[in-house]
Amino acid sequence: MHRLGTETAFEVLARAEALKNSGRDIINLGIGQPDFKTPDHIVEAAIKALRDGHHGYTPAPGIPELREAVAADIVKNRGIEIDPKQVLVMPGGKVTMFFAILMFGEAGAEILYPNPGFPIYESVIEFSGAQAIPIPLLEDRDFSFNADSVLSQITPRTRLVILNSPANPTGGAVAKVEVDKLVAGLAEHPEVAILSDEIYSRMCYDGHDHVSLLHYPEIHDRLILLDGWSKTYAMTGWRLGYSVWPETLVDQATRLAVNCHSCVNASAQYAGLAALEGPQINATQMVAAFDERRKVIVEQLNALPGFRCRMPGGAFYAFPNIEDTGFDAKTLQNRLLEEVGVATVAGTSFGALGEGFIRFSYASSTESIIEAVERIHGFLSQSM
Ligand code: PLP
Repeated sequence: MHRLGTETAFEVLARAEALKNSGRDIINLGIGQPDFKTPDHIVEAAIKALRDGHHGYTPAPGIPELREAVAADIVKNRGIEIDPKQVLVMPGGKVTMFFAILMFGEAGAEILYPNPGFPIYESVIEFSGAQAIPIPLLEDRDFSFNADSVLSQITPRTRLVILNSPANPTGGAVAKVEVDKLVAGLAEHPEVAILSDEIYSRMCYDGHDHVSLLHYPEIHDRLILLDGWSKTYAMTGWRLGYSVWPETLVDQATRLAVNCHSCVNASAQYAGLAALEGPQINATQMVAAFDERRKVIVEQLNALPGFRCRMPGGAFYAFPNIEDTGFDAKTLQNRLLEEVGVATVAGTSFGALGEGFIRFSYASSTESIIEAVERIHGFLSQSM
């Protein structure tokens, strides 16, 4: 158990809530969830499902209509046909990574993962007994991986490569040429599986088209795709996600589901169906709002002394370099929260290579972003 890490964003959230409850005025740019409500038609579908008597267990992989709707959505948004039987409905995006890493991780194995990256990758790799090998995501490459260096990290012990684009915490979006190169190189390593975390697939800006690993049929027999409803439809608390598994692994993944959670909450599955089949206008408007805020926050952060911030190509995070402030990431995170009431997350929460950065989630109103940056300006003028 001591090898298991955590997601510090939840600790920051708890501390921010505690400060708020004690009467402090807190601006929360820490937690990574949309500030929008789940669209009404989705909420209504869940209520209707309960009223219609969908109270019981569902099949472990999900209700057939939803698995079919996910397959249809993949045709619509990624242009790729898959068999609905490869789709598993999961209680959130996280569970797919947990299952995939447990499946491939064991003592003696190596798993490559993005660093800085979503903290659960490193945590569960280490928990599984495997060695976590960081794929460095560097500021001067706009936090995209370098295919040649990823390929050079593969050894006979490598079992799984984890990719995430658009990325948390950096907002980096990988270019197609780099993915092409990586997939071409993976032909030399047919025993290595890939987990592609595409939970932010619908949040791409400035012509950064989403590059899905599903676009490469040559790796379909060893690709696990992770996506879900949490970010796209502002449904983080519903705990609803999905994965696409190679035909050879889907039964094993289903068996893990049966051992772990039986099935996903029935009414949430009907909500997920309404989300995919209903109007997409709310989801589209939300992304347009994030795009506006992205430009505001990056401009504002770049005007702060000691900060420099790349323009993120996707997701809803800005990841400025704060080295020139003279603070380390954790100290700056704690002092901003305690002294000026602005919640952010230290880059080190996303791996050792996150030192020198802090993460801002801009899934928050423009006014609160502007106010937060003003407060940080005040803090830096006094403390630097
Ligand atoms: N993958 C990435 C990269 C994320 O940032 C998150 C959530 O922040 C998840 C997966 C987990 O999503 P869910 O809340 O659906 O479990």
